[in-house]
Amino acid sequence: MANPVLKPADTAIHTFDAATLGALQTALRGKVLDASADGYDEARTIWNAMIDRRPALIVRCVGASDVMRAVRFAVDNQLPIAVRGGGHNIAGNAVCDDGLVIDLSQMKSVRVDPITQRAWVEPGATLADLDKETQSFGLAVPTGINSTTGVAGLTLGGGFGWITRKFGLTIDNLLSADIVTADGVLRRASASENPDLFWAIRGGGGNFGVVTAFEFQLHKLGPQVLAGLVVHPFDDAERLLKEYQRIIASVPDELTCWVVMRKAPPLPFLPEEWHGREVMVLAMCYAGDLAQGEKATAELRKLGKPIADVVGPNPFAGWQQAFDPLLAPGARNYWKSHDFIELSDPAIAVLLQAVRQLPGPECEIFIGHVGGAAGRVAPDATAFPQRSAHFVMNVHARWREATMDKACIDWSRKLFDAAAPHAAGTAYINFMPADESSRVQAAYGENYSRLAQVKRRYDPTNQFRMNQNVTPAGS
Ligand SMILES: Cc1cc2nc3c(=O)[nH]c(=O)nc-3n(C[C@H](O)[C@H](O)[C@H](O)COP(=O)(O)OP(=O)(O)OC[C@H]3O[C@@H](n4cnc5c(N)ncnc54)[C@H](O)[C@@H]3O)c2cc1C
Repeated sequence: MANPVLKPADTAIHTFDAATLGALQTALRGKVLDASADGYDEARTIWNAMIDRRPALIVRCVGASDVMRAVRFAVDNQLPIAVRGGGHNIAGNAVCDDGLVIDLSQMKSVRVDPITQRAWVEPGATLADLDKETQSFGLAVPTGINSTTGVAGLTLGGGFGWITRKFGLTIDNLLSADIVTADGVLRRASASENPDLFWAIRGGGGNFGVVTAFEFQLHKLGPQVLAGLVVHPFDDAERLLKEYQRIIASVPDELTCWVVMRKAPPLPFLPEEWHGREVMVLAMCYAGDLAQGEKATAELRKLGKPIADVVGPNPFAGWQQAFDPLLAPGARNYWKSHDFIELSDPAIAVLLQAVRQLPGPECEIFIGHVGGAAGRVAPDATAFPQRSAHFVMNVHARWREATMDKACIDWSRKLFDAAAPHAAGTAYINFMPADESSRVQAAYGENYSRLAQVKRRYDPTNQFRMNQNVTPAGS
C-alpha cells in the first residue's frame, strides 16, 4: 500500500508574474518568497524531516495587516492556505504543496504585565520565548515539554505539559485571541466577544482563522522547581509501571510524572554500560514549594533500584528544555497516540512488548500524565473534549535514514493497533500524523457538530483545511 505520509517533493507549482508579486510585496511589511527567492528552502523546512513540500508562495508576516493581506490574496487566487507557527506539527500542516504559506515565525513578541499577571504573545513565539519572558517575573503558563515547540499550534490544539495538572491545559489559561478569519477580517475572540469562536479555537486547531495574538492568564511559579529524571533498568518496567500507576492515583496536582521508555541515550549522568540499552524513565516535576516537592516525590523515587536519580531543584525555564536535545529538528518522525483512562495489565503488556522491539535508538514511547486541574473542566466548556484521560501515550518513531521509514512507521502502527482495545478511544489532535484525518471526528466526540457549526459561520468554504480538518456543517 502506498504510504500517505511520503509525498513527492517535485510537485509542479504555480508561478506569478512580476506585477502580481510586486503588488503583493508592496502591500506587505514582511516579505513574500516564491520558489526562486533566497531563503525559500529554509522557509519551507519544518521540524519533521519527513515533510518536503513546495508552496507556490510563502508570506513571512510581521503583523496582523500582513496576515489579512495574505489571506485575501490566497482566497482571491484560489490558493490552498497553510499556517505556520512554530513549524513543529508532526503532520506537517505548516507547509503545503502549491499553495500559500502564512509564515508567522517572525512574529515572536511576548509582553508580560506582572501586575495583572497576563501575557500577550505573538504566534511565532516558541515555548522558550514565552518561558523566558514570564519566568523573569516568576510567572508561568502551562505549555508543553519541548521548548522549541510553537505556542500557536500547541495552544490551538489544547496544550499540556509539566504544570498542566496544577494550572490546566494551555487553553484553560487563554483569555482572548486576535484572529484573522477567512474573509480577511481581524476579529477578537474572548468570553464576551465572538464567544462561539473563542470556544472553538480552544482545542479546534487552525480551523477557524489565523491567530495573530494570544492573551494568557499567568500563575506564580518558581523560578526553581523540583524536577528531574529517575532512570530504571527496563527489566523492572512491568512491576514499576504498576507501582507508578498506584502511587500517582493519589499525588497532589502539583506533581506530574511522565514515563519514557527507550534505549538510553549517552547522557553524562548514566554509566556508560547503560548507553544504548532499554530503560524506563520517570520524568517528574513538582509545581510548588521545593520541600513539599521532596515529600510528594519520595514514594516514586524509592521505587526499585534506579540506575540514576537526578531529581533536584532546577530553574523551571531550564527544565522546560530538558528534552530538547532528544527532540531537535531535522530527524524523520512518525507518531501515533492514544488516550488512556488507566494503564491496564494488557495495555502494559503491549507497551513492554513494543519496547523490546524498538526499531532504532531514537524511537521511544512517552506516557504523558494529565488529569488534575485539566480534568476538572467540563468536556463541552471548550472544544477540547477528552478531560477524563489520565494518560496520553505518544508512540514516537524517530530515525535518520529514509531506508528506515517502513520499519519505524510499521513499528509505530503495530503498537497503536495492539493498544487500541485498551485505550479511551479519544485522541489529541496535536499528536496526529497526516494519515489520521478519519480520526478527527472521533477525537472531538460530542463537540464535533458544534465545531462544524462554528466552522460554517467563520470559514464556510473551508479555506483553512491544512489542519486536522473540521468540515463546515452542511457542506
Ligand atoms: C518534539 C515535540 C514535542 C511536543 N510536546 C508537546 C507537549 O508536551 N504538549 C503538547 O500539548 N504538545 C506537544 N507537541 C505537539 C504540538 O503541540 C503540536 O505539534 C503543535 O501543532 C505545534 O505547534 P507549532 O505552532 O509549533 O506547529 P505548526 O506546525 O507551525 O502549526 C501546527 C498547526 O497549527 C495551526 N496553526 C499554527 N499557528 C497558527 C495560528 N497562528 N493561527 C491559526 N492556526 C495556526 C495550523 O493548522 C498548523 O498547521 C510536541 C510536538 C513536538 C514536535
